[in-house]
Amino acid sequence: MVWRINILTLFPEMFPGPLGQTLAGRAFEKGLWSFNAVNIRDFAEDKHKTVDDTPFGGGAGMVMRADIIEKALLSLPRTTRKIYMSPRGRVLNQRLVEEFSQTDGITILCGRYEGVDQRILDAYDFEEISIGDYVLSGGEPAAMILMDACIRLLPGVMGNEETPSEESFSAGADGLLEYPHYTRPAEWVTADGRQFSVPDILRSGDHGKVAKWRKEQSAQLTTARRPDLLK
Ligand code: SAM
Repeated sequence: MVWRINILTLFPEMFPGPLGQTLAGRAFEKGLWSFNAVNIRDFAEDKHKTVDDTPFGGGAGMVMRADIIEKALLSLPRTTRKIYMSPRGRVLNQRLVEEFSQTDGITILCGRYEGVDQRILDAYDFEEISIGDYVLSGGEPAAMILMDACIRLLPGVMGNEETPSEESFSAGADGLLEYPHYTRPAEWVTADGRQFSVPDILRSGDHGKVAKWRKEQSAQLTTARRPDLLK
């Protein structure tokens, strides 16, 4: 199945951007996901192609017009679950990413300026999703982060490169942060002469002990760094 992404944006040329490279890029070439970036400005009706206007009630900045976004939205042959990238939204987490990646696709609205007229969100049931408590200048980078996180979970995308079920935040890791990784050389001496060894247990060949050590490391890291996840 192809996971289809519709993107409503003022900057369609930004896509697929970094998603055309590496893992997501290979998955795109294999036809595991596709995207359709629609330029909202194409639906403006005046000769200046205006898509925004001043806010009712006053204040700084401009607001993207609901009627123009609606035309862009209705031009899509098929809409999927509708998401508006927004700092006011539900903060994205792995559970939501898993949920989105199990749908047949998503339709993402990217804001610019002060954001979009509230009525487009209300009239068409957009879910507001934030990528964190900070403000970007536009929704496009946020959309790419959401897309990247979802694409890597699509069937056939990752192969043996990772075991998603053991990753940070995943159900297989009990929602904890992932344990530390090590590879060759087993003994590493830094340029200034400090020696770092791989923990002996990882070289013991005892899979039971390795699994137990990793679980303990995950629990310690999570307690130290993200005690909120333990709840
Ligand atoms: N006035 C808005 C506010 O204070 O909530 C911020 C608007 S921001 C300058 C322009 C656009 O960037 C937003 O409409 C949204 O699409 C996107 N954006 C900014 N920060 C974001 C975040 N943390 N997560 C998702 N999208 C974000």
